[in-house]
This record gives sequence, C-alpha cells and structure tokens, in this order.
Amino acid sequence: MKFSLDDLVPIFRQFEGPLTSELVRKPGDFGLGQVPVRFKPDATTTTVCGFCSTGCGLKVHLRDGSAVNLSPDTEYPVNLGMACPKGWEALTPLDAPDRGTVPLLSGQPASWHDAMSSFASRLREIQRVHGPESVAVLSTGQIVTEEMCFLGALARIGLGIPNIDSNTRQCMATSHVAYKQSFGFDAPPFTYADFEQSDVLVFIGANPCIAHPILWQRVLRNRRSPEILVVDPRRTETAMAASRHYSIAPKSDLTLLYGLANILISSGWIDREFIAQSVSGFPEFAEFVRAFTTDRVCAATGLDAEALWQFAQLVGDRSKRVSWWWTMGVNQSHESTRTAQAIIALALITGQIGKPGTGANSITGQCNAMGSRLFAHATGLPCNRDYGSPADRAEIASIYGVPAESIPQSGSPAYDQIIDGVKTGRIKALWVIATNSAHSWGTSEDLQRALAGLELLVVQDMYPTTETARLAHIYFPAAGWGEKDGTFINSERRIGLVKKVRRAPGEALSDFNILRLVSEYCGVADQFREWSSPEAVFRIMQRLSKGRPCDITGIAGYAQLDTDGGIQWPYAKDDKPASHHRERRLFGDGHFFHPDGKARILFSSPREPSEPTDAGFPFVLLTGRGSSAQWHTGSRTGKSAILAKMHPSRPYVEIHPEDAHVLGILHGGAVEIVSRRGMATACACVTTIVQPGSVFMPMHDAQVNTLTAPEYDPHSRQPSYKYCAVQVRPV
Ligand code: SF4
Repeated sequence: MKFSLDDLVPIFRQFEGPLTSELVRKPGDFGLGQVPVRFKPDATTTTVCGFCSTGCGLKVHLRDGSAVNLSPDTEYPVNLGMACPKGWEALTPLDAPDRGTVPLLSGQPASWHDAMSSFASRLREIQRVHGPESVAVLSTGQIVTEEMCFLGALARIGLGIPNIDSNTRQCMATSHVAYKQSFGFDAPPFTYADFEQSDVLVFIGANPCIAHPILWQRVLRNRRSPEILVVDPRRTETAMAASRHYSIAPKSDLTLLYGLANILISSGWIDREFIAQSVSGFPEFAEFVRAFTTDRVCAATGLDAEALWQFAQLVGDRSKRVSWWWTMGVNQSHESTRTAQAIIALALITGQIGKPGTGANSITGQCNAMGSRLFAHATGLPCNRDYGSPADRAEIASIYGVPAESIPQSGSPAYDQIIDGVKTGRIKALWVIATNSAHSWGTSEDLQRALAGLELLVVQDMYPTTETARLAHIYFPAAGWGEKDGTFINSERRIGLVKKVRRAPGEALSDFNILRLVSEYCGVADQFREWSSPEAVFRIMQRLSKGRPCDITGIAGYAQLDTDGGIQWPYAKDDKPASHHRERRLFGDGHFFHPDGKARILFSSPREPSEPTDAGFPFVLLTGRGSSAQWHTGSRTGKSAILAKMHPSRPYVEIHPEDAHVLGILHGGAVEIVSRRGMATACACVTTIVQPGSVFMPMHDAQVNTLTAPEYDPHSRQPSYKYCAVQVRPV
C-alpha cells in the first residue's frame, strides 16, 4: 500500500475543504479560481435543503463560521420564504449522539488506513476469486450530484463493478423511463410557477399536503380559482382540500386514464393541430382506447358515469390551462410506466404542455433523485446516453480521457436484480452508500438475512446505527448534508448549491473524499486526477451535458448558482443570462427530443396486480408517507425530538369503520396485519379516509416492507409498494 497512517493526515487536510464561511471569491471570479480568505464568521449564508426534491432554499446562520440555526430563504424562487418541518429541523440530525466518528472494522474502531486497506484488499480478492459480477453498489438520491457522478465513474469504469443502482429506483425510475420513452429524454417539462398559473390541477397518486408541503403552498398561491382534482383511493389531506376527489379502486388508475382519453377523443375535446405537429402514435392510441367505454371504466374504478364525464369535461376544456401532477401512487405500481405515459398522453392530446400552467409533471421524491437520473452511471451513461451505443461510449471515454474499451457495454442490473443476487449468493460483496436497504427494500426480513450472509458488506453512512450499517463488516463514517459542498437538482430541473456549513464530527469524511480514498487504495486514482474537488467534477458534468437537452455549459460555476438562486437546465453557453428567465419550462416550441421531433404515445392493456385479494387475505394494503415531519426510514428525522412530536409515536393502520366493526376492531386497539411474506403489529386507526376493503400504513416503520409484495413494473423495475393482499385481525 502506498500510504502509511502518518501520510493520511495531510491527505485528509487536503481533501476536507474549508467551511463555506472561510471562503470568498473575488468579484467576477466564478469557479475554480476561488481564493480562500477568512471573512466575518458571524454571518448568514444560503444553501438548499437536503431532504425532498422540492429543493427549498435555506438561510443558514453562522457563529464562528459554523451553522447554529437556519430559516427559509425569502429570495429563493422555489420556496419564497417557506419551509416544512423537516427543513426547519435540518441541522438537528447532524448533532445526533450516534453519529459515526471513526471507521469500524467488524464493529470495532479502526483507522481510515486500516479500514481502506481492508476494503481494497477484500474487494479485489472477491473480484479475483468470484469474478466482477460478484460485487455490487447500492447508492442513494441523497448525496450531491458530483458524488453520484464520481461514484458511478469510479465503480463502473475504475473498479469494474457491473452492478450499481440506488434507492432512486424505489421512487423515480418510472418517471425517468416514462419521459425518456415518451419525450426522447428524461425531461420533466414544468416549472413550479405552473402550480400558480394553472386553471385545473390534477393530482394522481400524489399527496403534496404531506409529501411536498411547500409545493402545496405554491398551489395555494394560485389566484385563478383553480379546480383541484385528486385521484386517489384514500381521502388524503390533499383530497380533503381539493375541489373534487375521485376515490377510485386501488390500481384502477390506468383504466381511468384510458377511459378519459376515450371520452376526450370521441368528444373532440383534443388539440388536433398540436397532435399533427408534435405527437406520434395518436391513431393507434385512439383505436386502442375505444375499448375503454364508460361502463367498463366505471366498473373498474367505482366511479359513476357522471363523475367520469365531468372529469373529462374539466380536463378537456381548451379555454383552460390544465396541468397533470403525479408521484409515488403512480410510480410505485406494477404497471407504473404505462400509467405515467397515459398521463403524458392526456396532456399531449389536449395540447396542454409547454405553456404556463400546463404539463404532464412528475414530482420527484428525494432531494437529488434528478441528479441521479442524469449522472449516476447506473442503467445508462450520463445525460441519458446508452451503454449499448458505441458512439455514446466513445463520447464518454473522450470526456473522461480513458480508452473507449474501458467503458462497459451494458447498463447495470436494477436494484431488485442486485438484491436477488445477494439473496442467491451470486453477489458476495456489497457497498451501500447513504441508504438503509435493510429497512426500505421490500421483503426486508429476507434481505437482512441475506446481507448478514455476505462475504463483505461495506456501509458508508452518517450513522453506524441504521439497520443496514449494524450488519456491516466495514463502516465508513460519512459527512452529511451541511457538512460538504456540491449541487442538487430539484423536481423542476433547478440546480441548486449545497454548502459546507458545519465540520463533520470526528474523522468522518465527505462521501466525495471517501471516494477519493477508495480510488487511491484500489490503485485507480490516476484515472481520476481531474476529479479533485466537487466543483472540478461539476466542470466534468458540464462537459458531459454539452449538446444534450440538459446542457449546462452556460453556468459559470458554483458562485453563479449561488447568486442566481439556482439555475434550471438547460442553460447552454449561448443562452440568455439565467437571470433573464428564473423560471423556464420545456417544449414551448412543440419540439420534443426524439429524432422526428415528436413525442410518442405509448400504451399497454391494463393488468391485474399479481397478488389479488382473496378469502385468506381480503384487504389491499396501501402504503405512503405518514406526515410532513417524517422522511423515509427515519434515520435522520428520527433524531429530532421536535419532529417526533408531530407524528404518532406508534405504528398505526387505517381501517374503514365497516371493516373494523365486522372484525371487532376498536379505534386504538392492537391489530396484526399479515401478508404472505410477513406480519406487522400496529394500533388501529378507524377512519373513513380509507375505502372499505383497503387499509393504509405509513411506510416509515420497518415492519411495513416485510409485508409488501416483490412485484415490479416491467419497464422501470420500480417496486409496487402500493398494493398487496393482507389480512387484519385484532390481538
Ligand atoms: S419541502 Fe422538502 S426541500 Fe422544502 S424544507 Fe421541506 S423537506 Fe426541505
């Protein structure tokens, strides 16, 4: 090994940069020419929140150069001075007593040198003995884009690891695939101003009141007296606040959307001129949806004919601006890609895209799922290039300065296929970064057993206490949001700057610098000399984007992202100054990214979920976010006493009063929820929020994914977390 322990100290110093408060830039000096100069340590700086994809701007208040408090940024174009509880509490998880401060080897404190040496030698030995296919990486949508890009290039090109995916598979793979197939590029077309500029907003499988509360605030700022339509089997908080709630049968959404298309087309409530110029596949689609008669759609969804036709009239009114919004209720389905594409088709055939207040708009989940979609190097090469294309591989090789043969010729298997490899023993070594798979992945009890059986499990995380980290042979302590620099991309394609406003505790390092150490210890650092800092990688990302629909070559550097309140892509070198258009949407010219310039309508016949209810398992289990104070597996939000007061402390299951009466279940009573894979206990919340025959559990409790079904959309391979058959019984 090249390094002694003593050598590493100066490496750490070189790698771990100063706090943001210790840097100023000369006026007009964007990018790499920054000059570190100390300035007023008691001041305020700005950053972007590290929880959800809304991407709110926060003002961080500093004492002695380090963050002591924060407040929402009134100037940032996303949140306009608002933040949800998670954002207000964003600094609290950094102070948690269980932060990792030193590397661990088999649970025992170790030096970075020993941990890295062990990682490199065991990884290389497993690759040598079992072949490259025996190693996998599972990453996250929570780290900055520069780290995602570096990780992908390091794993796939530097280390020859063929299996790499991330938890964005669980939330956003569907939107990525749906847009890429329909538009020719993964390009969410909207800007948040569309919430305020729409006359009819349709939310499908989306509960922004809870999941994206600041976006809901943007809806409330709409002065056009909009109709707000919610399609959801549950009477969610958003459904309660809407003007109309379509409480459809679980997983009948695709049938509903095709039925709406049939009414719109047969009634002539469509934009024939736009279709002729900008859409392919319309005649086939029109023929296909003829079978979705009013009777058929009403039978499948449970809606009455009047409600269905009223819905169609509202979205078919061409004097109105209509926008369509979806999130996990669509994405986490067994036929999610086609459902998302049915929403896209409705926007296309009515010409409701590319104009203010319109669009087929996917609201993303994690703070940087959008960064992952462009730069992760997982199933595709950066900026929607394809591993299978020799031209794309050659282009990437030239940008990276490596031989074309070093670029793999196929994309990674998806998350579920990697997990299958872990369970069957094909994968022997797994490197998990900033995600808690043992909690969040379906059938998690199985997975925990499989993880425990790996030859090498390496976990890189803020906490050594997550369900996954507790199983690790090697643990790398990682800096969290607020302790490192980089960029996030939010749901509306806005690239926002994330700053280091705290020092990570103990010997914890940023993920970026852990990756640099890995490259050194694995002997591939020479390939990555240019990847020396987050901003240096941002420059590489700009080169990757050049000439692509997501071109960001016009951004002068981090300083411009800071001063301009983030910048939406595309922003190419010759574009007008970003300050001239703080809000921008795509497709205003009716031109899409397929070679013919048209958007494609894609469709398939609806299918039943693989696990219908029956006499033994008579209820449909729905899962979703519990409250705006909770985030996924709770590894960060669970650290806040304030957030803990904002949601029930015990797991609960919502059940309709009629079902509760039949089963003898009382409100607040203990119940067991049993699926074909596992069992959970919870207290009963007897409520008409759910329909008879279905029950709902928040996803944040570790028991929930012991119940959910291992079923995946065939196009995106996103798990179907929103439908499985269970029985419920009092205990
Ligand atoms: S809405 Fe999302 S981005 Fe905004 S403060 Fe809350 S968690 Fe952060």
